[in-house]
Amino acid sequence: MLKDTLREFVEKELRPIAGKLDKEHKFPEEQIKTLGQLGMMSVPVAEKYGGTGLDYLAYAVGIEEVSRGCASTGVIISAHTSLYCGPIERYGTEAQKEKWLSPFLDGNKVGCFALSEPGNGSDAGAAATTARLEGDEWVLNGTKAWITNGYESDATVVFATTDKSQKHKGISAFLVPKPTEGLSLGAKEDKLGIKASSTCYLIFEDCRIPKENMLGEPGQGFKIAMQTLDAGRIGIAAQALGIGQAAMECALDYAGKREAFGAPIAKLQAIQIKLADMEVKLESARLLTWKAAMLKDQGRPYVKEAAMAKLAASEASTFIAHQAIQVLGGMGYVSDMPAERHYRDARITEIYEGTSEIMRLVIANNLLKEYGAV
Ligand SMILES: Cc1cc2nc3c(=O)[nH]c(=O)nc-3n(C[C@H](O)[C@H](O)[C@H](O)COP(=O)(O)OP(=O)(O)OC[C@H]3O[C@@H](n4cnc5c(N)ncnc54)[C@H](O)[C@@H]3O)c2cc1C
Repeated sequence: MLKDTLREFVEKELRPIAGKLDKEHKFPEEQIKTLGQLGMMSVPVAEKYGGTGLDYLAYAVGIEEVSRGCASTGVIISAHTSLYCGPIERYGTEAQKEKWLSPFLDGNKVGCFALSEPGNGSDAGAAATTARLEGDEWVLNGTKAWITNGYESDATVVFATTDKSQKHKGISAFLVPKPTEGLSLGAKEDKLGIKASSTCYLIFEDCRIPKENMLGEPGQGFKIAMQTLDAGRIGIAAQALGIGQAAMECALDYAGKREAFGAPIAKLQAIQIKLADMEVKLESARLLTWKAAMLKDQGRPYVKEAAMAKLAASEASTFIAHQAIQVLGGMGYVSDMPAERHYRDARITEIYEGTSEIMRLVIANNLLKEYGAV
């Protein structure tokens, strides 16, 4: 039902404007509100907090469906749901959930997640942003980089070190409203793709927040961040699947219509082989993504599978988008057709929420442990 509802909405109201949103770098404010009404801004959040109360498999299916129409909208929802709502639901007190979670589930408020810094991304434990306690307030100083939804969000989960001597074990998580005094935004990044989603610095200069805005225990921040990203990777895998599916459909459609040497190019075996390779990669990655989501839903270990899903889906997506351009020939290279946007959008899925290199390390480390090799 969720998939059908989203397909209908996306076909009518999102897919037709995705190219324009991309060109104008425009946040899809109205569409996010409607998606909120459809339950898409809180799919895995429990009903008792006002969420849709479905599982992660439904969430993965939903993110794929939205991203098939607009990859920027896919990441806006994914960053909001997995990275902002996720850790608050898991680690927040009931009072924090009432204030920071429940008002964020209907599409009228969006959240963001601030972990990366100009000096460290993959090495997230090296966070230089600090938080010091002064009376009843935490005082935050430092710069967070690459923050998705940075411009439109109404609050952020932010990670800062409370005890530098403890390295990653000295990092804690905090909830910061936006706007708030002492927090300013950098310029919007001019990106290759997902241009309708904003990405920017969050700059903290003696930014004061109440003591009760710490999320989880002191020193628990790194663990919260890593667990949040494990779940988030299922969302990014699903986003990659949506982009891959859209590129696939674009290639299929064109191959059936374009004639060369007196027949549709779809009749050429060279084209058919491309389409077959694209479909195998897409469907394999989809099954890995669903498997990771189902393991999470069953409360079973899923860290390795989430990394496998993200790695497979992001590489499938970039491969498929690349091949789609080839199938379209010259028409693949111009913005009259969506293939070039899919190609640009796909690329980021190999980078954020852990690069493909980091995914391989996560997979190998888990594999070696499973086999007792280390
Ligand atoms: C559009 C966009 C949106 C983003 N949104 C957010 C967000 O909302 N919140 C947030 O906190 N962050 C966000 N990020 C940041 C993103 O998660 C990081 O860019 C990513 O984790 C990589 O970090 P880095 O850019 O510092 O690269 P680096 O860590 O400097 O890596 C550079 C290269 O070195 C490789 N490398 C690094 N360490 C290793 C290793 N140990 N072994 C092998 N290879 C390695 C990497 O794989 C990569 O190829 C976003 C980034 C972008 C571009």
